[in-house]
Amino acid sequence: MLQLSKFPVKTLKSAPKVSDNRSTSLLLQAWFIRQEMAWVYNYLPLWLKVLRKIENIVRQEMNSLWAQEILMPALWSKEHWETTKRWDSIDVLFHLPASDNKEYALNPTHEDLVTPLMSEFVQSYKDLEFGVYQIQNKFRNEKRAKSGLLRGREFLMKDLYSFHKSEETLLSYYEDVKVAYKKVFDRLGLWSDTYETLASGWDFTTLNSHEYQTILSIGEDEIYICNDCKTAHNKEIVDLVNWFSCSKCNSKNHSVEKACEVGNIFPLMTRFTEAFDMKYTDSDWKTKEVYMWCYGIGISRVMWVIAEYFMDDKGLVWPENIAPATHYIIVMWDNLDKAKDLAKKLESEWKEVIIDDREKVWFGQKASDADLLGIPYRIVISDKTLETGWYELKSRNSEETQIIPL
Ligand code: ATP
Ligand code: MG
Repeated sequence: MLQLSKFPVKTLKSAPKVSDNRSTSLLLQAWFIRQEMAWVYNYLPLWLKVLRKIENIVRQEMNSLWAQEILMPALWSKEHWETTKRWDSIDVLFHLPASDNKEYALNPTHEDLVTPLMSEFVQSYKDLEFGVYQIQNKFRNEKRAKSGLLRGREFLMKDLYSFHKSEETLLSYYEDVKVAYKKVFDRLGLWSDTYETLASGWDFTTLNSHEYQTILSIGEDEIYICNDCKTAHNKEIVDLVNWFSCSKCNSKNHSVEKACEVGNIFPLMTRFTEAFDMKYTDSDWKTKEVYMWCYGIGISRVMWVIAEYFMDDKGLVWPENIAPATHYIIVMWDNLDKAKDLAKKLESEWKEVIIDDREKVWFGQKASDADLLGIPYRIVISDKTLETGWYELKSRNSEETQIIPL
C-alpha cells in the first residue's frame, strides 16, 4: 500500500499549459511525470507503476510467441553502423564522440545489433526459427519532437525480431504476432479503436508494413478506412487521396481519421541478414538466406495514448488492469489504522491501494485528487462511515456507489 503522507510529491493546483494536448498537462498536474527539459521527462512512482504493468502485458504476449527476452546496449560503435551503411543515412541517429577518438551511436533501433548477434547462433536449419525481443530505451534525434510523450528523443520501445528459413514460415509467424498484438491492444483497452493499417514497406520490400494506429483527434497520422471491409490505409500509400479505392475490396466508400501509431510490423526480409552474411545450411545441404521481420510497440507512447484516450473532464481515467492502484482510500480524522486494515484486506484479494492520509487536506481536495489520478475505485473512511459499519465504494466512471460491510 502507498501512503500519501509518506510520498514526496504533490499534485498541482491547476494543469500546466502544454501546447498541444491535455493529457500531458494532467500527467504533470497529477504528479505522474515531471519535465526535465524540452521533451525529456522524469517518470515518478505512479507513472512507473502504469509503465511496469503495460510492459508486463506486452511481455506475456511476446512470451506466448516463444520469443525470448534479451537486452542489448544503447551504445554501439560507428564501425557497426557503417556495415549497414546507416551511419550517415539515418537522419535521426545521435552521433556521440568518445574519449578514445572513437565515435558511437545512441541506438534508435536494433536491427544492426541483433542481426550480427543472432548470426553467431545460426549455422544449420536446426538453429531456426526463433524470435528475440527487448524492452529498451531508444534514442532518436527527432526534428519534430512533440511537447507531450508522443514523440520524444528518448523513448521506450518493445522490439521483437524474428528469424526464418523461408518467406512462408515467416508469414505464418507473422500471423501469430498479429494475434498477439491484437491481444496486447485489447488488454490495454484500445483495440476497438485501433486499426491494423497498411503502410509502406519502404525500400526493403514490395510488401506492406503494418502499423497499429489508434484513432485519436490529436494523432499525427491520417488513415483511410474502407467503410465496407474496414481495411485501413496510411495516407502515405493512398495514391490519389480524392479517389481512394480500397486495396482489398476496391470500394471507394471510406472515412478518414486522425490516428497515432502505437506499434508496427515491418518486413525486413534479407536487408540485414545479407549485410551481416547471416546464412544457414538447409537439410538439402544448400546454403540459404535467413529471412527476418521486426515488430515494434512504442511502450511510452502507448501509455500516453491510453492517458489521452480515456481522460475525462475530471482528470485521468485508467483501465483497472494498468491503473497505478485499484483503490483510493480517503482517510478523514484519526482513522488511519482502520484504513490500513481495510487496505490489507483488499491486498489479500490482489487489489492495490493508495491511502490518502495527508494531514490538513480537506475532503474535497482528496476526492478531486482521487479523480485526477484516475484510480478506478474510491472509498471514504471517517468517523461517520465507521459508525455505520459499512463503507461506500465509488467507481471513477460513474456516480453510483456500492455499500460494502467493513
Ligand atoms: P513514427 O512513424 O511515429 O515516426 P516509426 O515508424 O519511426 O514511428 P518505429 O521505428 O517502427 O516507428 O518504432 C516502433 C514504435 O515506436 C512506433 O510504432 C511508435 O509507437 C514508437 N515510436 C517511434 N518513434 C517514437 C518517438 N520518437 N517517441 C515515442 N515513441 C516512438
Ligand atoms: Mg511510422
